[in-house]
Amino acid sequence: MADDDFGYTTWGRDWVRLAQPLRVTRPDPRLPRARALAKGGKVEVTIGAGKIRGTVEHGRTTPEVSIEVTPLSGPALSLIGTQARTVLTDEMYRACTELGHPPVPKLTRVDCTCPDNSGRCIHVLAVFYDMAQRIDDDPRLALDVLTPSDGTDQSETIPQRWTAFDALDPAEYFTVR
Ligand SMILES: [Zn+2]
Repeated sequence: MADDDFGYTTWGRDWVRLAQPLRVTRPDPRLPRARALAKGGKVEVTIGAGKIRGTVEHGRTTPEVSIEVTPLSGPALSLIGTQARTVLTDEMYRACTELGHPPVPKLTRVDCTCPDNSGRCIHVLAVFYDMAQRIDDDPRLALDVLTPSDGTDQSETIPQRWTAFDALDPAEYFTVR
């Protein structure tokens, strides 16, 4: 299966799931194109606490993707925090899940500078796949994203053009800009 290249660790698989939610069974023609962008090295990401910024080289355009992630809860962080500096294993993932704190990334904001405001444009999908790849290579990146930023008020650093992902109203997608 083509998907085997992405998400072979439990930590990376979560990011594949963001692109391919289990509840979606219809083939999405954007997915193979997004995978090709990620595989072809067309995606560059900057990862910070609770934030990802991606630049996707797509034809003649280079849209910028911004993603914000809810930090892990305290119990899950303290469970993996002590050991995770060396390696983040599938066992740690399971241990968190068994404690009731699955370390699944929950997105709070998704934005892309391209005209597609759905939050699932090909560039966002490409960043999800790229993250899966990078996290497979080094699962500690998953923790970098899920770690709360210390002390800074995130609401001040969020550019205003960002749209709250949960607040998206399909009726307004094409009238906002
Ligand atoms: Zn886009």
